[in-house]
Amino acid sequence: MAVFKPENVEDLYEIGEVLGSGHFGQVRQVRERASGKCWAGKFLKIRKNSCSRLGLDRSSVEQEVEILQAVQHPNIVILKDVFESRAEVVLILELVSGGELFDFIAQKDNLLESEAIEFMKQILQGLSFMHSKNIAHFDLKPENVMLSDNVSPHPNIKLIDFGLAHLFHQGEEYRSTSGTPQYIAPEVINNEPLSTAADILSGLSPFQGDTNEDTLKNVIAMNYEFHAQYFSTTSSMAKDFIQKLLVKNPNERMTAEECLLHPWIKPITRKQVANRNRSSINMKSFKKFNARRKWKVSNCVSICFCVYIRVESTFNDHFLQRQCESDTEDTEIKPASLLRRRLSSSS
Ligand code: ATP
Repeated sequence: MAVFKPENVEDLYEIGEVLGSGHFGQVRQVRERASGKCWAGKFLKIRKNSCSRLGLDRSSVEQEVEILQAVQHPNIVILKDVFESRAEVVLILELVSGGELFDFIAQKDNLLESEAIEFMKQILQGLSFMHSKNIAHFDLKPENVMLSDNVSPHPNIKLIDFGLAHLFHQGEEYRSTSGTPQYIAPEVINNEPLSTAADILSGLSPFQGDTNEDTLKNVIAMNYEFHAQYFSTTSSMAKDFIQKLLVKNPNERMTAEECLLHPWIKPITRKQVANRNRSSINMKSFKKFNARRKWKVSNCVSICFCVYIRVESTFNDHFLQRQCESDTEDTEIKPASLLRRRLSSSS
């Protein structure tokens, strides 16, 4: 059981600039007074009582903390400490200063598949590790795949935001309708029992339709195409890899462990190596897509995206949300698309 320290966080840390914000508070850079070292402080508002509309249930934060403590891996953000006051819990996290992976990639003029694979491999290693501990992330998306720093030419992947993550206990049947629709697995939409397999599909699944309804239908029907316009420079191994992820039946989908052994990630023959080095990412459409994604995210409407797949058309925001109210209390009923977390995290 995690220790939530009662000390005032400001006595130990100097609170700095805002790094990002979620629906329950902000993430700010903090400086440890004793060592001078910088960290990220995730300030989460806690629901005062069961009648309160504001904040997260403490149990939900306890779960996020418990999971973060269990997933200590080089590709997963580190949790250093937890502080609690009457209305707030503060998670002191490793400072991940390299920004989002997609923004880093979008700055490049060229990207070989082999370079993209290096990032993919690290994402899979982080995932494979957490899955080996029976933990699913359940909210993998570009915003939650960050880079360790912005100075080294080869920064490391850091997976963040374990607010929707779940630790599976033996024999447990877990269902949840939480997540972000663009990256959601069909079994989530269908309210079927979930497993770590939902992470594999959710992070890599581009099924935008012209409307929300079309998109969800596309996810359920596994309706997607490799448009020549975007995939002409993509290797056949990459397409094979993608096809083995975009599988409706979670039991038939590649696991993170299996992904790491796929020849696109781990080539065996010289021909496979050469194939990867010859193929590249369509940067023009990647940049355009990332710009649109950022614009849409900042307007509470996201579009579907993944590292190297692009399937054309647009899609609305979060279909399924987490169980919490946003941090501004108002009387107006918010559209579901503006609320995100933990709407249904019960089994
Ligand atoms: P959401 O409501 O989107 O799920 P959240 O409240 O769970 O958000 P996070 O996603 O964990 O919060 O963090 C919000 C943003 O803060 C991130 O998108 C990222 O930009 C920034 N951030 C989070 N953790 C870190 C970190 N360790 N280092 C640097 N920035 C971070």
